[in-house]
Amino acid sequence: MTPAHHTGLPAELVCSNSLKGEGLTNAAGLLKEEMRHVGSVIMSAAERCRLPAGAALAVDRDSFSLAVAGLLESTGLIEVIQEEVTAIPPGDGPGSVIIATGPLTSDSLAEDLAAFIGEDSLAFYDAAAPIVDVSTVDPAHAFRASRYGKGGGDYINCPLTKEEYELFYRELIAAAQHPAKPFEHGLFFEGCLPVEELARRGPDTLRYGPMKPVGLTDPTTGRRPYAVIQLRQDDAAGTLYNLVGFQTNLRWGEQKRVFSLIPALRNASFVRYGVMHRNTYVSSPRVLQPTLATRRRPDLFLAGQITGVEGYVESAAMGLLAGINAARLVLGAEAVVAPPETMHGALVRYITTADPGLFQPMNANFGLLPPVPSSVVSKLAAAKAQAALEGEATPPAAGETADPHRHGRRSRRRRSATRRLRKPLIQEAKSLRALSTWDDFIENYELLSGRLQFNMVK
Ligand SMILES: Cc1cc2nc3c(=O)[nH]c(=O)nc-3n(C[C@H](O)[C@H](O)[C@H](O)COP(=O)(O)OP(=O)(O)OC[C@H]3O[C@@H](n4cnc5c(N)ncnc54)[C@H](O)[C@@H]3O)c2cc1C
Repeated sequence: MTPAHHTGLPAELVCSNSLKGEGLTNAAGLLKEEMRHVGSVIMSAAERCRLPAGAALAVDRDSFSLAVAGLLESTGLIEVIQEEVTAIPPGDGPGSVIIATGPLTSDSLAEDLAAFIGEDSLAFYDAAAPIVDVSTVDPAHAFRASRYGKGGGDYINCPLTKEEYELFYRELIAAAQHPAKPFEHGLFFEGCLPVEELARRGPDTLRYGPMKPVGLTDPTTGRRPYAVIQLRQDDAAGTLYNLVGFQTNLRWGEQKRVFSLIPALRNASFVRYGVMHRNTYVSSPRVLQPTLATRRRPDLFLAGQITGVEGYVESAAMGLLAGINAARLVLGAEAVVAPPETMHGALVRYITTADPGLFQPMNANFGLLPPVPSSVVSKLAAAKAQAALEGEATPPAAGETADPHRHGRRSRRRRSATRRLRKPLIQEAKSLRALSTWDDFIENYELLSGRLQFNMVK
């Protein structure tokens, strides 16, 4: 067992017992809903062990593991052998091999995997910077430029004045961090320190490091800013940007609080927070096909967190896709690729097409989905705003004259209600499209849902 696992049962939740939020305007909720549509074992086990947790899906962890174990046993098709696998099993004939050994894959298998995919393609820890949805960066406090004008406007620069920098610095060094696990001590090395650790070395260290302003002129002031945070494009669609050099071990709430002190990020939506912990994962853009088979060996699949996704549900989703394709291979059927409009497909697209040199694990978020036409969102928004306002509006009472300014006030109120609704509505529009695409996908391909008899325990 790994240092984090204690029970030897399948699907052990090593930390939180939450499978994150429910609901279709939540990216993890959408991912779970897609899994339910295809008959996921993990989702049906979770339903049976559900605990009251407001808008989240939390489970009783022991019952959950036992339910998964029961599901596997009840198929009568699965033999469980509990032992360490020290090398990648060879392919024998028409079978498939799936490696799903997770973030704490044991050393000997990790070494063999590294030899197979190349040393540079296997990472042993995360050092990820936060990622923001670019549409939520305030353009009034940011400008596009590359240092010394080299490379055009590739970077979004978020300038800070001396006062803004000093406040940011004070809050950064005082912010609460995630405590390191016993097996994570000594994780950080000099070339990749958390930004808060760098800051503690002196008030100006960041201004000579990730916040250096050299080679940049703020067009608003015509001067070099006191300090700058640069944002760099993170996905092929150009919807996500990461904070360059801002790998951090701060608690997530603290990241939101402290990074929102940067004027351009005051209202930014953080689609992924920075993390620094032990994590074995492959450079999927180099290693994996979008079917989750390895490029070098089509009968060898990777699944779970080792593919470069992050989180219980994302890992299970990658298990679902890898399992479907491994089974299809055995049955002589063509492998399937989840459409990028779905949350499964969007995650796979990200991990297989991101820049391999900068690749860091990703969790489910709406920024990964392709944009929906703004006309669709506006129509949805207008319909909702209208419905909300109709609840508020009262017709003039009998004998009362209609207020001539009333219509103008109503349409102003409607415009402002539409703007307020916009973000959840974009998410709702994306969810609706993702689920209908996912349904088409399931219908067009026989995805083995039910055929593996997992449905017998629903
Ligand atoms: C300490 C810690 C805390 C975490 N907390 C959270 C959290 O709160 N919420 C969240 O969403 N995610 C969390 N994660 C991430 C979470 O672990 C993963 O997202 C998820 O469990 C990964 O699923 P997986 O199936 O890929 O791997 P795992 O769940 O780790 O399963 C892999 C299995 O493979 C076994 N194994 C490893 N090497 C070998 C080998 N050579 N031979 C045979 N078996 C092997 C392991 O013992 C394990 O049973 C945490 C991770 C860690 C390490």
